[in-house]
Amino acid sequence: MLKKKSVEKLQGLLAEPKQITIVSHVNPDGDAIGSSLAWRYMLAAKGHTVRFMVPNPYPAFLEWMTEINHTYVYKMEPEACADYVAGSDLVFCLDFNKIGRLDKLGEEIEKNTRAERILIDHHLEPPADFDIAFSDTGASSTSLLVYELIEALGWEEEVTYPVAEALYVGINTDTGNFAFGHLSPELFRVVARLVEKGVDPPKLNISIYDNYSENRMKLMGYMLNEKMVVVREAHAAYMTLDKEEQKTYHFQPGDSEGFVNLPLSIKNVSLTAFFLETRECIKVSLRSQGDIDVNRMAQQFYNGGGHKNAAGGKHFGSMEQAVSIFKSALKSLPMPI
Ligand code: 5GP
Ligand code: MN
Repeated sequence: MLKKKSVEKLQGLLAEPKQITIVSHVNPDGDAIGSSLAWRYMLAAKGHTVRFMVPNPYPAFLEWMTEINHTYVYKMEPEACADYVAGSDLVFCLDFNKIGRLDKLGEEIEKNTRAERILIDHHLEPPADFDIAFSDTGASSTSLLVYELIEALGWEEEVTYPVAEALYVGINTDTGNFAFGHLSPELFRVVARLVEKGVDPPKLNISIYDNYSENRMKLMGYMLNEKMVVVREAHAAYMTLDKEEQKTYHFQPGDSEGFVNLPLSIKNVSLTAFFLETRECIKVSLRSQGDIDVNRMAQQFYNGGGHKNAAGGKHFGSMEQAVSIFKSALKSLPMPI
């Protein structure tokens, strides 16, 4: 439930046309993009001047989304982004809660603007330094929260197809196509409303899941065949993908989306890790089923966070170290059933 007081405070802030920035996290996923695009449409329809910014490019598999190409990428045009943030009245932070998740774009928001900051997010442990926080760690996606906020503001009638499409993408991807997370009756009621607004689930599911390159499919085959390591005694599995391999498969950002989930299909595997070499670090993705808390693992070993069953972080060192930390961490976990 969204706090009535916070909704009223937001209503007050939005009563006059404002210059607004919406930001979401580095390596934006379906929920980051979906929730932000939907919120951008709603605010623009209400007469505000709005820009949506992300620290680095959005993944190619979402390129089909309506007006996604109006998204500002800080890495591509830092000055234009910085100027706009500096002149903004409000900054909405969607689908993350630590400014560090914005990389350099975070510095603009920390230092170069006096805008009020509003959080809409579902990650664990939200910090207190927001003027308004709509945080629900039990929500399966930020997109679902955005819909609840739209309803609380009395804007539901004005939800157009692009808003519904964007929210569906977020709700769908953060639940793995309605497979995990808190799949509440409320979530399906919201999806029903989105269908009434024109969302066609089979059509969008094809756009989301059947839109990858041939290279990515070949890479997936290689990962499963050659790279997957199952640690049977720990009910765990992991995969690594280094720079050399990325070159071989003409790797594009987003191509490894979902790889971390694959070994969870194996009977008795309930904890998985995926390690991706990037220019700056080894990016670590962790997933679990049931009671295994990968958020804690990400915090403790990889300076990251996320949710209980889906988290991530970074390792500043070699791939071998990142993997050996994971293997040691497995030993400290309670045995899954
Ligand atoms: P993914 O593995 O898909 O990158 O991320 C899974 C979840 O963990 C997402 O909810 C994401 O926001 C969170 N996450 C991923 N990387 C980081 C990180 O470096 N720091 C924090 N705090 N959260 C992360
Ligand atoms: Mn999310």
